[in-house]
Amino acid sequence: MNAPHPQMHLHKVELKSKDYKTDATSFWCAGCGHYGVLTGLLRSLAEIGVDPNYLVSVSGIGCSSRLPYFVNSYKMHTLHGRAGPVATGVQLARPDLSVVVSGGDGDGFSIGGGHMPHLARKNINMVYILMDNHVYGLTKGQCSPTSRQVMKTTTTPYGGLEEPLDPIMYMLTYGATFVGQAFAGNVKLASQLIKEGMEHKGFAFINLLSQCPSFNDIDTAQAFKDACEQVPDGHDTSDLVAAMATVNAAKKEGRIPTGLLYKTERPTLDERMAELVTRVGGHKDYDLRKIIDLARP
Ligand code: SF4
Ligand code: MG
Repeated sequence: MNAPHPQMHLHKVELKSKDYKTDATSFWCAGCGHYGVLTGLLRSLAEIGVDPNYLVSVSGIGCSSRLPYFVNSYKMHTLHGRAGPVATGVQLARPDLSVVVSGGDGDGFSIGGGHMPHLARKNINMVYILMDNHVYGLTKGQCSPTSRQVMKTTTTPYGGLEEPLDPIMYMLTYGATFVGQAFAGNVKLASQLIKEGMEHKGFAFINLLSQCPSFNDIDTAQAFKDACEQVPDGHDTSDLVAAMATVNAAKKEGRIPTGLLYKTERPTLDERMAELVTRVGGHKDYDLRKIIDLARP
């Protein structure tokens, strides 16, 4: 448990943000907020100097889940809602890699909703970037778990009947050790949060509000920009109750709090597994295969 965490020794290289971009042709609509997320991610990778050979980008299904195509890294485009569990396997098998998950509000909190609490409570060492546009974009405009009730969609033509889910409150409640939020068009803040999330040891959840001009005409870029407000100076990021109170207070006024909302430290699952291997098996080094061997009769 006292050993330095493998990711504390991130393999550093000197690259520019454009070097992290593949030449894959874009399939996002003009004006899509996901371009801001991508720019923010590429910028943060360059600022940290992450070696693409030690970077894995994992996604599920959706417009946002196509992000790994544009990132110079190893990548896994998995099943709908299953990016988190797949990324968990990657991270536990290779704790020395930087793991970034990206996906949408439907993929993460509807189809994959059952996985989200477990990523948080287990404190898997990864960054999860939610590209939250409050709608299903790829399948052309259905109501998503974060759709606002006033929004009329192809599946809710008279508006929504269900309360929208709040990804930030959800993650604070289930024990994420790093929780931040930004408007995707605020690339400076988005990239700063991604960078801090990658440097954080544990499960870093970053909600990036990303407009879908093709299928959501109320949560426009301007609407997100106007509603977002930086958490007040002096906000104590180590205080969970204060983080929840800040989110609730902003919500009552129709505002969206942005910035780093909460951060804490506790052992990650791979650290706990390494400690178990050492304690029970007498091995000095963490190796998933050794853990599997221990479990054999
Ligand atoms: Fe972006 Fe919406 Fe177009 Fe998908 S449908 S690429 S989310 S604008
Ligand atoms: Mg969506």
